[in-house]
Amino acid sequence: MVTQKKDLCEFCEGKVEYHLIQAMFHFKGQTIYVDNVPAWVCKRCGEQYFDAPVYKRLEEIARRRSRIKKTVRFPLAEYNMILS
Ligand SMILES: [Zn+2]
Repeated sequence: MVTQKKDLCEFCEGKVEYHLIQAMFHFKGQTIYVDNVPAWVCKRCGEQYFDAPVYKRLEEIARRRSRIKKTVRFPLAEYNMILS
């Protein structure tokens, strides 16, 4: 969500703090992850707020996703996997 600098979360009114985060960003049906994104994060519910210029840059990055050099793979478990 794009925002002006803020102190309280719009959803739960929790305290919002400035962090560098790994942001998950949805763009035209694709999801990209961007490391070290400056963002405001709610301490209570985890909602992430981006300043407008930051959000713009994330959009630019998503648009040029073919230039992204690193691909991250996450382990994806099946809930019904055999555990014995
Ligand atoms: Zn919140």
